[in-house]
Amino acid sequence: MITKRSNFAPLFLKETPLILSLLFCFIFVSCQKEKGFKGVNQGDQATSQSKLKGKRLKRSIDSRLGLGEFFVEKKIRKNSNFAETLEEMNFSYQDILQIIKAVKPFINFSKLQINTVLQKKERSYPLKEFLSLEVFLSWIERVVVEKGEKGEWKARKKNLPITTKVTKFNGVVEASLWNSAVKAGLDPAVIEKLSQIFAWEIDFNREVLPVDSWRIIVEEKWAGGKRVSWGHILAAEYKNGNTYHKAVRFPKGKGGEYYDLEGKSLKKKFLKSPLRFGRITSRFTRRRFHPILKIRRPHYGVDYAAPKGTPIFAVGDGRVTRKHYSKWGGKTIKIRHNSVYQTAYKHLSKFHPSVRRGRKVKQGQVIGYVGSTGLSTGPHLHFEFYQGGRYVDPLGKKFPQLKKIKKENLISYKSFAKEVWKFLPERQEAVLLAKKTNEKKKKEDL
Ligand SMILES: [Zn+2]
Repeated sequence: MITKRSNFAPLFLKETPLILSLLFCFIFVSCQKEKGFKGVNQGDQATSQSKLKGKRLKRSIDSRLGLGEFFVEKKIRKNSNFAETLEEMNFSYQDILQIIKAVKPFINFSKLQINTVLQKKERSYPLKEFLSLEVFLSWIERVVVEKGEKGEWKARKKNLPITTKVTKFNGVVEASLWNSAVKAGLDPAVIEKLSQIFAWEIDFNREVLPVDSWRIIVEEKWAGGKRVSWGHILAAEYKNGNTYHKAVRFPKGKGGEYYDLEGKSLKKKFLKSPLRFGRITSRFTRRRFHPILKIRRPHYGVDYAAPKGTPIFAVGDGRVTRKHYSKWGGKTIKIRHNSVYQTAYKHLSKFHPSVRRGRKVKQGQVIGYVGSTGLSTGPHLHFEFYQGGRYVDPLGKKFPQLKKIKKENLISYKSFAKEVWKFLPERQEAVLLAKKTNEKKKKEDL
């Protein structure tokens, strides 16, 4: 399996309406540059000068270093401390005292962790000279210590600028979606984001196939030559069986939303109510007095009173997971809408004949009729909503909103999406299939 990985430069500054023009600013930057930036461990100072000669060439590739300049890096070891580490870096006792005094306002020594990096920058040419000492408090936070003109030690806080790169990844599911992400060098958190984007189209718990493939471009946040976090997925394709699901993030307005290439939202809205006309007689509560049982017990749903036989609609597209009779709920239908949401409909007088377990239903499709089966005082629908397997109040909960692209933005979105799409890596499945056919051919040739 081949994993494509290349970086291209900062783009998508912030939610600019004219991102299109920015798109053409993609500059490809090699990852190799970052690899050249490495500290030298100063364990063997005696031989370091000769060793450094060889390494100096490499170091000069790093534009951050001037002629004859180099870094010496040390980590604070277990059972060691800041002062001892400085000592190991060949600072004099006097200097160490001065440095500690200077950095005190910026560093809480009791909270300084093992493996905190100290980096000394020195010059060896034309004269050996101390330039600075940096203490890496986090990936982006550093304390810089320098020497003033009079030889006094001065410290200041430095926050590294975060730059955004855009990277491409692709994979074939094979064993699992999670594995394919790891194999591609992708943080599983990003794959989680991918599954959220398509949560309304694919049930990632049940519908994922080994032949499924995916490809994405995603933002990476870099600081100090290292990736510090992941940003947004800018474009994604998930091939589920023979269906291609496509998404592009349109960074307009707050947060940005995902749309398909035609500009249709990837989120779907639930119907406000499973009945056309229904009067809410009992709301969702964690404690209520039960009219039949005469005890206080929670009511994990909403009751709609309606005449017997009133049609009940599926509130969203999904798959019927249960169709059964229970003593309490009577005739019950449960629908799984995606990997997050499920709904249940109880006390039905009758199921609609089209409803079968395992079958798909469409939003607004009649699935049954209001009744009073099970433990019920009169004809009503008991409607339940689940999010991640837990009951939620369908009336109190803010469900995903269908965000349409405004008409005046649709044309610009489409050309934007088209441009972004070009940056996706090759579909890996194609590579895999080609490889397989090649292998087949080879065998045939033999
Ligand atoms: Zn109820």
